[in-house]
Amino acid sequence: MTAEQSSQDPVPRGRLVVLVGPSAVGKSTVVARIRELLPEVRFSVSATTRDPRPGEVAGRDYHFVTRAEFDAMIERGELLEWADIHNGLQRSGTPAGPVQAALAAGEPVLVEVDLTGSRLVREALPEAITVFLAPPSWPELERRLIGRGTESTEVIDRRLATARIEMAAQDEFQHVVVNDDVDAAARRLVSLLIGP
Ligand code: 5GP
Repeated sequence: MTAEQSSQDPVPRGRLVVLVGPSAVGKSTVVARIRELLPEVRFSVSATTRDPRPGEVAGRDYHFVTRAEFDAMIERGELLEWADIHNGLQRSGTPAGPVQAALAAGEPVLVEVDLTGSRLVREALPEAITVFLAPPSWPELERRLIGRGTESTEVIDRRLATARIEMAAQDEFQHVVVNDDVDAAARRLVSLLIGP
């Protein structure tokens, strides 16, 4: 505690970083590196109506819920934001409680959302720092998306269409981080989460 701080002072609010990046840009690899570099960071666990992918763990990667459960969460006002993803193929949203609690406790929080979600979070919490994780190039993104080999052609086409829209919107973000080096991208995000 410094001379300027006393136990009477309110806890400074934590920093909220909102991360957006096209499908297959390598977000989960960057996020895994951030976990190693900054174990105290709080990651918002979204609710989603889509099925788990191989290796995904309920409660860690997502809260996997039915459409009815998801809509009940909306009704009860439990989501900070939510969006229809990939033309309504699935709905995903950010539970408000854990984010608000972590920020009030002064902890850094990382929220991973789509473009619509990032706009809604900024409306709700204007102090949010918005970051776009960009691929080194469009062909590289296409290669990574098709190369993952876990989805059907239809799903890949939808993800490419969403990615085109997201890439065109990168100017509205406060920071654009190019993911050509996972460690460097993660370090950039850590510096935004903990400040100068
Ligand atoms: P995926 O299904 O591949 O995990 O994610 C698809 C898209 O949904 C990604 O752009 C991801 O950032 C977004 N997404 C994941 N969780 C949320 C959320 O809680 N809210 C919103 N708006 N988008 C989310």
